[in-house]
Amino acid sequence: MAISPISCGWRTRSARTAINLEPCPDCGALVGGRDACQKLFEALGLRAFEDSRYAALRRLAVDCYACQHDRYILSGRSLAAHLTGVAVAIEHGGAEEVNERVQSWLSRTRHIEKPAVPRARGAITIADVAGTAPEDYAAAVRRWAGSVWDAWREHHALAREWIAAAVRR
Ligand SMILES: [Zn+2]
Repeated sequence: MAISPISCGWRTRSARTAINLEPCPDCGALVGGRDACQKLFEALGLRAFEDSRYAALRRLAVDCYACQHDRYILSGRSLAAHLTGVAVAIEHGGAEEVNERVQSWLSRTRHIEKPAVPRARGAITIADVAGTAPEDYAAAVRRWAGSVWDAWREHHALAREWIAAAVRR
C-alpha cells in the first residue's frame, strides 16, 4: 500500500500564500499579515546595530512605521511623538534640537487629544524600505516619510501646533 505524501497539501498551500501574500491590516503592505509586518520592522531594527547607515535613520524609520500602525499610536501622546518626528524630518530637516524640545514638551504634557487616524496611511510601507541596499536606504526612508506625511495631511496643522508648543518654551 502506498503511503500518501502528507506534506503535499501543506506544500501546495504554502506555495500559494507565498505568491499571494495577505496585506498587513494597518499599513497595507503585502507581507503576509500584521505579524509578518512587525517581524520586518524588528529585523530592520536589528540592522541598526550592525550598520551605521541604518542607525542614522532609525528614529525616522520608527516614526514612519508607528504612524502606519495602530498599536504604536493608541494615545494622543504617542501619536504626537511619532507624527512630530515625521514632521521634523520633512519640515525642519530632521533637526535634533527640535525633536528634543518635543520630547521634553511631551514629558511635561499629561493629556493630548488624539485626532481621528486616517484610513490610508501612505502608499510607501516598510515593504518598500526593508529590501533596499544599504546605500539606497536613506533615500528610501525619506520617501517613506514623505508618503506618511502626505497621508496625514489633514493633521499637518495639528502636528505643527504641537511642534510650536514645544519650541515656544
Ligand atoms: Zn504593516
